[in-house]
Amino acid sequence: MFILPAALAFYRALRVYPSPVELMMIYQKTVPEPIFKIVIELTNLDVKDRVEGYYNKFPPQSLGVKVETRMVGDISKKALVLTKDVQVGEVIYKEFPIVGALDSDLQPKGLYCTQCLREVEPSMSIKSPESPVYEAVYCSQACQSLAKPQHHNLLFTLERPLPPQIPLDEITPEKLEARRKAHTQFADYLKNQAYGHSAPLLVARFIARQVASEMNKLIPGSSGIPSSQDYAGADDEEYLLADHIERLRYVEITPPQEELKLITAVLDTVLPGLDSLVTEERYSTLLGKMAYNAFGVYYDGARDDKPAPTARPEDIERTRTPMGTSRQIGSAVYTVSSYLAHSCDPNARPSFNAGNSQLHLIANRDLKAGEELTVAYVDVAQRQDESVEECRRRRRMELARGWKFACPCERCEREGTTVGSEDEENIGDESRVEKNMQRFESNEGPL
Ligand SMILES: [Zn+2]
Ligand SMILES: [Zn+2]
Repeated sequence: MFILPAALAFYRALRVYPSPVELMMIYQKTVPEPIFKIVIELTNLDVKDRVEGYYNKFPPQSLGVKVETRMVGDISKKALVLTKDVQVGEVIYKEFPIVGALDSDLQPKGLYCTQCLREVEPSMSIKSPESPVYEAVYCSQACQSLAKPQHHNLLFTLERPLPPQIPLDEITPEKLEARRKAHTQFADYLKNQAYGHSAPLLVARFIARQVASEMNKLIPGSSGIPSSQDYAGADDEEYLLADHIERLRYVEITPPQEELKLITAVLDTVLPGLDSLVTEERYSTLLGKMAYNAFGVYYDGARDDKPAPTARPEDIERTRTPMGTSRQIGSAVYTVSSYLAHSCDPNARPSFNAGNSQLHLIANRDLKAGEELTVAYVDVAQRQDESVEECRRRRRMELARGWKFACPCERCEREGTTVGSEDEENIGDESRVEKNMQRFESNEGPL
């Protein structure tokens, strides 16, 4: 009688990992045969449906935007397009992130909510005594109760990682010690990232959240872990987090071996077997997706106390923010806003007026239904000490280093008098990436 729900749960867990071969092998060894057979059948049935129907249902119509395929030169790409008219200054939509993280230098200070990135009065904040190695601080009970089951328990505490209804192997003192050691090492690694570099934490939280969500569905009658109110469509009935993430663009990143080891150790000591699911390839792809799609979160005029970066410019993690990454307090990834393309003369801008990581997309001018929405990924304003040419060069350099593309926007075209040497310098890298993206977007399916 439990066979069908069990098969569904395993099947959903399988979908957490778009390259599911290893998980299939684990299932074959560990789950009863009738369940395994159902999982196989579900997998075959499902793939076509998921690939074809996705953009009809996502983003939700109520947001007033849709994803369309458009041609840029001879490259087809996905564009976020208005389905309603808006006026200058209007909020086009609001969106909560699927995952967010404070900048590593702010995390230990306890001045911002670990979950929603809101500024908190230290005397009013909720501390998490269960994880001394990673000082999580929350602005509210609501944020704490979202963070703990979504990712915090799994990554940074010794608490039972799964709900009590799900059986686990016996937890011995040795196992707890191994877990403590693994998450301490991971937390230390994160803290020692001098300049931002929050992608590893974003990936770890994302994986933890998927695992927790899928495992929760094993409980009869449960529909998974409660998610924050209105972030668009993530992990709803129709689609899972993995469905959203697998469609997003990414940059190619080779992660330090140490980083991968630290994360897999955390996963393995929490739930043995999990580590084998995060292969190097899978990890790099997720890291590249976080790097390509993360927005910088800032409010109240942004910060200006961050020390200048010491790493080489090409090694600095950049987030999409018109203020420049150095002025953000943290990074966050959004399912809908990931589709916003860059323009050096953007028709919209992200705003965090709610004083947390909820993104409000604001129109920079009057816009009509059918227009593609754009934002600035970098600071595109001409600085006092810059000529038009220098400003163009600076922003194109940042775009090429951070997102690996040569900006095709009208402003760049208008302001470009000659083919600058910076274009020559980056062209090899950029064209390679564009080719990858085209391949990726033309086949739309799981990687
Ligand atoms: Zn909060
Ligand atoms: Zn441009």
